[in-house]
Amino acid sequence: MSTPELPADEPVMSAAICPPREAATIVAARIIAAGFTAYFAGGCVRDELLKIEPTDFDLATDALPHDIAKLFRSARGVGESFGVMLVRCRGRTIEVATFRTDGKYEDGRRPSHVRFATEEEDAKRRDFTINGLFQHPITLKVIDYVDGQRDLEARVLRAIGDPAARLNEDRLRTLRAARFAARFSLRVDSATAAAIRDAAGDLTGVSRERVGGEFRRMLTHPTRRAAIELIEEWGLDAPALGEPNSRGELARVAALGHDASFATALAAWRFDRGHRCNASQPGAWRGPLNLSTREAGDLDAICAIVEQLRSAWDFLPVAAQKRLASRPVFSSAVAVLAGENPAQAGTIIERVAVLQEEFGGLEPIPLVSGGDLIALGCAPGPRFKATLDGLYDRQLEGVLTTREHALSIARAEWFFE
Ligand code: ATP
Ligand code: MG
Repeated sequence: MSTPELPADEPVMSAAICPPREAATIVAARIIAAGFTAYFAGGCVRDELLKIEPTDFDLATDALPHDIAKLFRSARGVGESFGVMLVRCRGRTIEVATFRTDGKYEDGRRPSHVRFATEEEDAKRRDFTINGLFQHPITLKVIDYVDGQRDLEARVLRAIGDPAARLNEDRLRTLRAARFAARFSLRVDSATAAAIRDAAGDLTGVSRERVGGEFRRMLTHPTRRAAIELIEEWGLDAPALGEPNSRGELARVAALGHDASFATALAAWRFDRGHRCNASQPGAWRGPLNLSTREAGDLDAICAIVEQLRSAWDFLPVAAQKRLASRPVFSSAVAVLAGENPAQAGTIIERVAVLQEEFGGLEPIPLVSGGDLIALGCAPGPRFKATLDGLYDRQLEGVLTTREHALSIARAEWFFE
């Protein structure tokens, strides 16, 4: 085996960004040149065997964290007790983890301790066989202690070892199973699926942050519908969302575009589950899925706009239609509506295209500003805002088209009404 010659720390510290695989190879080669073992590990090996470009390349090594710290000036520990170091290389951050076994997952969340171990033990501590592969970064030989290649070829998702025991160690793995099976169109091994169903209720013990993170990754992927089907089929929706298990048509989720946002996918799923997302339910799913303020706000706004579009759009005056169509999540709401009523969504899209061309478009610069009203002698207060809004509505409707006209109306209404 030959290793490329590397000058001191230069390539590792250089600022030029290179592809992640190249950066990981440079880091691995340095570790190997120092006499250790280093492999590409887990998801990146799986992805490349499936001919998918990995997003990141993680390394696994027998070098200890302090060896990595000596080899790379940029190395920083993340949870050093877990033996994970981050190394900067050519503008990339590479995760370098020492081979380990995980101790007991006492709270169903994360191991209470880890022990540095052999590469075989490290492969076998992982969740599913397809995630348990290593690859030598220079010879490209795949190192397979778990029959992961066989399962990848047969397109099967299978827990490593005893499924019930593995799921019991970390119950998040039930959700991860749905994510991987959906994402790669895998059949789920029957013993693994049976263990997932048995373990489903225990998901309540997993931190909301981890649960929310898994949902975020599942629902922002084009295969979200398959993931949700598995989640509902396995009964994971009940403990994840804190509501009864529900299985049914996922018409709205299915109709979403590939790049739909997390909030959009959640809104589609909520309606598919038969929720009425009206004002009495703001903040639903925020706690269970640990949504950010922005995500929770967008979810509620999308649901509210869908309801308005269904029942009121046709009757709204032009100004109100324009105001609604200018909302940042309006297109998300239309996308959700398209899953239940494509004809209505199509009509709305056509109408918005017309509104965009009429009277300065959806959001023209106001003819009259707050500063203008003050200059006229109007005092700030509730009436001030109502006056400005009223002027803007008439501008949106094409009643006011010049600044002079708008100012004269403002003066007349303020002082003579
Ligand atoms: P993705 O492409 O979504 O990042 P991934 O397989 O890389 O998928 P990560 O969550 O990044 O998934 O984890 C990297 C690797 O670490 C996995 O391939 C798996 O081997 C292992 N791993 C991660 N989380 C767990 C877990 N909860 N239980 C067991 N092994 C895990
Ligand atoms: Mg990963």
